[in-house]
Amino acid sequence: MRSISIFGSTGSIGENTVDLIARAPGDYRVVALTGGRNVARLAEQARALRAEIAVTAHDDCLPALREALQGSGVAVAAGAGAIAEAADRPADWTMSAIVGAAGLVPSLRTVARGGTLALANKESLVCAGPLLMGTARANAATILPVDSEHSAIFQALVGEDMAAVERIVLTASGGALRDWPMDRLAHASVQDALAHPNWAMGQRITIDSASMFNKALEVIETREYFGIAPGQIEVVVHPESLVHSLVGYRDGALMAHLGAPDMRHAIGYALHWPERRALPVDRLDLTRIGQLTFRAPDEARFPALRLAREVMAAGGLAGAAFNAAKETALDHFLSGSIGFMDMAQVVEATLDRISRDCGLGIAPDSLENVLQMDDLARRMADGIARDRGRQG
Ligand code: NDP
Repeated sequence: MRSISIFGSTGSIGENTVDLIARAPGDYRVVALTGGRNVARLAEQARALRAEIAVTAHDDCLPALREALQGSGVAVAAGAGAIAEAADRPADWTMSAIVGAAGLVPSLRTVARGGTLALANKESLVCAGPLLMGTARANAATILPVDSEHSAIFQALVGEDMAAVERIVLTASGGALRDWPMDRLAHASVQDALAHPNWAMGQRITIDSASMFNKALEVIETREYFGIAPGQIEVVVHPESLVHSLVGYRDGALMAHLGAPDMRHAIGYALHWPERRALPVDRLDLTRIGQLTFRAPDEARFPALRLAREVMAAGGLAGAAFNAAKETALDHFLSGSIGFMDMAQVVEATLDRISRDCGLGIAPDSLENVLQMDDLARRMADGIARDRGRQG
């Protein structure tokens, strides 16, 4: 029986992971489940999966969690410290699916104890790629990608030599607003940005998908995880979201991974790796699909991709600053204080200001450095976003 923990079990990736685990309850012993404010669902999952401990990120949610789990035998705890401690508990396989930079600490603590980390939380690699990968190497930990694109690349690399890779092509659905003209984009509402054509995901990643910030994070994630040069990473818009990404080799071969847009594929692949087991996902009928289309991304409308390249060129803590500024700008967009196109401007202005004032190139070699940059970028982006909001 394998022991497993799920960080962010109440979210979209978390629920899909719970779904796979719940189909084979005899195969798994659940150690820790963590969530945020959705305490009722966290308690339900913890009871159903007989978890050892359920942890909410918020102290004020602890009484409700305790009450919901009374008599269940499941231990309860709250706060970021308790989430970090839950990651120290031995488990054979750990899903990192908290949204945002808050996912970094449990990712890092999992690899520090030499565990197997299924990584959905791309922010861990964007903020602290060298630290996470270095800690994993030093402790003989395994990191398995769960982002569908990175799982696709990982699968297209099986049995191959990285030295033979010429390029990696990330596909992007283009998100909800991919066909909107530039003049309408400035007025896009939260509801508009949430109408993703293909994928059902959490609110934040869905909006990041519409702004292409999600793809920007994924470009950086590709660089950090696969150790490939930025110039070898391409992005193509593929509206059908059936080709999940491709690897191009020096002999000209392009290996694509195709599948239905269902995260249980990438999660299940990481869960059963290195085996391939049956998964409850739709099979593609290529004759019904008929055709697949691809086009170049429009970087004028979606500046996030250009910013990602600048972040990779800057190196150091630029990724941590980029992600924190992006998360802050997204909070402001969600609250209605800035417009859709303002998000990229807030992020760019934050990076420019930090680069001018204190530089971005400091090595992300300690968690403390990364968290300090995260905090600085959030404060700066918040000020910039407030100014923009006041200007209307
Ligand atoms: P959701 O918003 O659906 O879920 C996020 C999870 O994190 C929830 O369990 C939430 O708790 C919890 N959470 C939120 N804030 C905090 C916090 N500050 N501390 C601790 N826990 C917190 O996100 P997704 O499942 O969509 O995404 C999760 C991660 O996976 C992200 O990094 C995303 O980029 C990545 N990813 C997601 C994909 C998808 O299809 N959804 C695809 C590929 C990658 P609660 O809801 O109880 O408040």
